[in-house]
Amino acid sequence: MPDFTCVLDKDKIKKQISRTAEIISTDYRGRELVLVGVLKGAFLFLADLARELTLERVKIDFLQASSYGADTVSSENIVLKKDIDIDIRGKDVIVVEDIVDTGLTLSYLIAHLKTFGPSSIKVCAMIDKKERRKAAIHVDYVCCSVEKGFLVGYGLDYAEDFRNLPQIYHMKL
Ligand code: 5GP
Repeated sequence: MPDFTCVLDKDKIKKQISRTAEIISTDYRGRELVLVGVLKGAFLFLADLARELTLERVKIDFLQASSYGADTVSSENIVLKKDIDIDIRGKDVIVVEDIVDTGLTLSYLIAHLKTFGPSSIKVCAMIDKKERRKAAIHVDYVCCSVEKGFLVGYGLDYAEDFRNLPQIYHMKL
C-alpha cells in the first residue's frame, strides 16, 4: 500500500470551493458562463464548484488532453483527446483544471479554446503547484496552493487509481 499523507481534508476542500464559487458568482453576475472542465482529474472539482455557483445561466462542457511520457511527471508532448461540443464563440469561459503544475497543459488548452473566438477565457484551478511552472500562465481563481509533491485523490490519480478518494493526499513515490 502506498504511503499517503492528507494535505487537504474534506472540510478544507469544501470551504475553499465555497469561497471560490462566491467570488466567481460575483464576477459573472448577470452573465452567461461556460465552465470547461479538463478530464479526467477535474471531474469532482467541477461538479462541486458548479453546484455552489449562484448564477442563473451556467453551461458545462469538457475537454481532455493527454501528455505522453513518464507517468508522474508532466510531459511537454500534449495531444487533444476530446474536444468541447458547445459553441463558445462570444461566450465567457472558465477552464476548470485539477492542478496547474508546469502550466504546459493549460497553455495548450487555452490556445486551442481561443481559436473558437470566446469573449473571455479565465482559469480556475483546484490546486496551484508553482514549483515546476514552465509556462507563463495566470491562474485567475485558485482554491488551494501546494508547494510540491505528487498528489492523489479527489479526482487526481496515480495510474488511474485513487480518483475516488474524498480528500487530497501527498503520495510518496
Ligand atoms: P501541467 O501541464 O501543468 O504540468 O500538468 C497538468 C496535469 O498533470 C494536471 O492536470 C494533472 O492531470 C497532472 N498532474 C500534475 N501534477 C500532478 C500531481 O501532483 N498529481 C496528479 N495525480 N496529477 C498531476
